[in-house]
Amino acid sequence: MQVRPISNTPRPRFQVVRRALLFILRWTFIAIGAATAASVLFVHLYRVNESIYDPSLFAIGVGGLFSMACGIMLMMLTRNRGLNHDLRRARARCEQLADFTWELKEAEARATSLLDAQGDVIVRRDGEDRITYANDAYCALANRTREALMGTRQVLPVARQGRVDVQPDGTRIHDQEIETPAGVRWLSWRDVVVWDVAKDQAEVQSVGRDVTGRIEAERALADARDAAEAASDAKSRFLAVVSHEIRTPLNGILGMTDLLLDTPLTPEQTTYVTAAKSSGETLLSLIEDVLDFSKIEAGRLELETEPFSLVTLVEEAVELLAPRAQAKGLDIACDVDERLSGFVLGDAARLRQVLLNLAGNAIKFTERGGVSVVAMPGAGPDRVAIEVHDTGIGIAPEHQARIFDEFEQADGGERRQFGGTGLGLAISKRIVERMGGAIAVDSTPGRGSTFRIDVALPAATGHGAPEFAAPDLRGMSALVVAPDNAGTPLLVRRLRRWSANAESADAGVAAALLADRAWDALLVDFAVGEETATVFAGMAGDSVPRRIVLIAPQDRSRLGALKEAGFTGYLIKPVRAASLKTRLTDADDVFDTSHAALDESPHAQPAAAGARKSLAILVAEDNEINVLLTRALLTRLGHLPTVVGGGEAALGAWRDARNAGAPFDLVLMDLHMPGLDGLEAARHIRAEEAEASAAPTPIVALTANAFPEDREACLAAGMDDFLVKPLDRDRLAAVLAPLEGAPSIAA
Ligand code: ADP
Repeated sequence: MQVRPISNTPRPRFQVVRRALLFILRWTFIAIGAATAASVLFVHLYRVNESIYDPSLFAIGVGGLFSMACGIMLMMLTRNRGLNHDLRRARARCEQLADFTWELKEAEARATSLLDAQGDVIVRRDGEDRITYANDAYCALANRTREALMGTRQVLPVARQGRVDVQPDGTRIHDQEIETPAGVRWLSWRDVVVWDVAKDQAEVQSVGRDVTGRIEAERALADARDAAEAASDAKSRFLAVVSHEIRTPLNGILGMTDLLLDTPLTPEQTTYVTAAKSSGETLLSLIEDVLDFSKIEAGRLELETEPFSLVTLVEEAVELLAPRAQAKGLDIACDVDERLSGFVLGDAARLRQVLLNLAGNAIKFTERGGVSVVAMPGAGPDRVAIEVHDTGIGIAPEHQARIFDEFEQADGGERRQFGGTGLGLAISKRIVERMGGAIAVDSTPGRGSTFRIDVALPAATGHGAPEFAAPDLRGMSALVVAPDNAGTPLLVRRLRRWSANAESADAGVAAALLADRAWDALLVDFAVGEETATVFAGMAGDSVPRRIVLIAPQDRSRLGALKEAGFTGYLIKPVRAASLKTRLTDADDVFDTSHAALDESPHAQPAAAGARKSLAILVAEDNEINVLLTRALLTRLGHLPTVVGGGEAALGAWRDARNAGAPFDLVLMDLHMPGLDGLEAARHIRAEEAEASAAPTPIVALTANAFPEDREACLAAGMDDFLVKPLDRDRLAAVLAPLEGAPSIAA
């Protein structure tokens, strides 16, 4: 660093005194000189010619001359003073400029040392690419002295060049891998055009920052990500393979227990077989949960956007769970606000999965009371809220947030008795979030829980009229006689929304109400007891035109007696909105068998085995146990199975049957078989049919994988339907029904 000289030193005192003395001396000499000159002139003139001498004129002349001389001298002195002043100012300015110069030099030195200390590589080049400046870092990187670099077109050895980005202000940004004596380095360059004032020319200034550390970290991160993705893929594949491998024998176990249950067994044997079946089913749902969760975790949850009916979805989900609830003596009911009775756009399968999980939990954790599922408009346009309410054990506040995490149960130890994996809510939460919604719980231990989801389900406009239109029951009075259960308030609420004047009461109060007022409809829940129900039917008599009994499917056997007792109609619980509407608006005798189908739910009763066609079915399946099961199921359903063990054999058998003029009515095709797999075999069949312009044989896939992409792959290969293993008798029968020309039991 340079040392600045002392500039503004104070002027010494003797200099001032000296200047004053000089001033007095100068004036004394001037005065003496002027007086001497005047005296000499006076004496001389006096001696030369006394006649022309006029002393007064002379004195005037001398005085005038003296004054003139004094004036000139005064002017010169003033001028001299001015010049001295300017001189002093100029000196001060010079000192100031000297100060500036030092400061600039100092700042330059500081800036240079700063740039060098930063480690950034800086180089400037003129219009002809010649180096005009290079800092120490550049010199070190180029391994040359600054003098050796100046004026040359030297460039650093580039091993790899990154992408060049040009910013709006013209700055070029790019990365380069440079080979240096110390090894390979990555530099991130910023090239800017600057104007050199001194040289009056434009130059390109390049500043390179060493980003080797960052690039290496990025590479390590990318490698780690690739490895994690590969591991995740491997995990998913492993899970898919393992789950398939576990499902296959499990299918066998479940199918065989089903068949076994159809044979004559002692009560003890039935208990054991039922236990084996339920353990198998638990294991299957566990495998499905784990597989589903791993899929969601891997970010592979693809949601569909198809129009579907919310009413149907909610009612079917509740009906599916009804046997489980009713087996525990629980009441189960649902209600869908009529404003939602049209079609909505979304993923019906995933929404059903969430509902089944929430309502399934509600049944699992409830011992007394009931479960209700209520759908209503959500918080905002195009949103739907669904609440699942139960009167079960409830969840302590400290566990409420945790249960949505994977493998979490509210109270691990105690609740193990209820079974489960702790994955259901974690899966539901992720699905709901993917649907642009949220899930929440409100629960009081010992009193029950309400799970609420609020999801985006826009109305599917242009999909036709709403499938259910609410009736106008204005003027109708209806009395609901029921114990305090989950369904009654929903039933009353629904009737009131339809403008009926509805009341509910337990048997004691209802008797008084019935006697007191005139009613158009009496709805008696069979849960009040057969005797009480019969009494009410009798009490109402013909004064109440519609006398309807609400029964659980297992009480169907009492229908005859109830008709005898005076009921005019019945409804199967959980009550569908459409059925209720028909019972309250239809004039026919609803005990007619023609109307019985209206209340059929999948669990209600097997379809009447009528004049069904016996089908010739080709079964392509390589697993012996599955072959045994499928053959047994088909034979029991009255069909003729032909079994082959692979894709090629299936193709051959299909061709032979067609050539013989007795084509198969249906092909049940396993997807995973050695050699030609199910998809390939289906494609061949479709191709040959197209070539021969023959009518297509229905092909139904049999697979252990229940994912939408598997379904899509089957449909894309030309298959017509999809059956998930383990083969369920009801689902198999439902698929066969349209071909048999008889109604499906699952319709
Ligand atoms: P699983 O039911 O398989 O254990 P879930 O993720 O579906 O897994 O539920 C997590 C936990 O949340 C359950 O184990 C239970 O402790 C609690 N839980 C869920 N639903 C209810 C409910 N309706 N009533 C009481 N506890 C519940």
